[in-house]
Amino acid sequence: MTSRDEVGQLAMEFNALMKTVEHKTRALHATNHQLEIKHHHLVDAQAHLKQANWELKSLSEKDALTGLYNRMALERKLTREWSILRRRQAPISILLIDIDRFKEYNDQYGHQAGDDCLRQVAFVFSSITQRASDMAARYGGEEFLIILPGTERENAVQLGLQLMRKIKEEHIVHAHSEHNGWLTISIGVSSIIPEEALSVRDLIQNADEALYRAKKLGRNRLCDGSKEFS
Ligand code: GH3
Ligand code: MG
Ligand code: MG
Repeated sequence: MTSRDEVGQLAMEFNALMKTVEHKTRALHATNHQLEIKHHHLVDAQAHLKQANWELKSLSEKDALTGLYNRMALERKLTREWSILRRRQAPISILLIDIDRFKEYNDQYGHQAGDDCLRQVAFVFSSITQRASDMAARYGGEEFLIILPGTERENAVQLGLQLMRKIKEEHIVHAHSEHNGWLTISIGVSSIIPEEALSVRDLIQNADEALYRAKKLGRNRLCDGSKEFS
């Protein structure tokens, strides 16, 4: 074979090699492009999953009627705050709120109107919380609970009185109310600096007893331990 033939042969082999390289490069580009598309789909799916998880979590923590936190979320929050404030030796205050004569409201205006009323008062309860750590929740039926971590008793009482005024200012007509024909609420306040011998149950029980006294004393008032405010 002459050297010319050899050069020709080499050129052919080189061309064939270049073609293979080109072909492989194109195939790699295509695979890369497909991988990029798959990556985008995965990122999208991840974002959707995150959103769905968030919605699921908020659904499981919220009361369907009022949109406030539900009892489960409330109990979790109380336990969490109790241990934080026990370490800090700071008070935890709660307001246990009950709508006055709500059975008669339902009887008079119907269950649907009762539901609307619950939504209306719930909105006022949620708007009164000031700190990020405060929580307004539906405790059950026509009872609500506001958790005020790190809030002193006096400030909790003031907030409760403000809440009573705000509800009266909503001017929700209630024919069976003894208080100018407007719907009213009663509140039991409890405030404790958490310690070993006490528990969340004591905190709630104190509020329950105070609320019971507020009802007994004529409703439309707030009780805190032995003190009464109207
Ligand atoms: P008091 O002033 O002593 O609190 O009297 P009350 O009538 O408010 O209390 P009672 O416990 O006798 O009645 C509570 C009423 O709340 C009865 C129940 O039908 C009503 N209720 C509870 N949950 C709901 C609800 O989700 N929607 C409606 N419309 N009514 C509810
Ligand atoms: Mg009740
Ligand atoms: Mg009631």
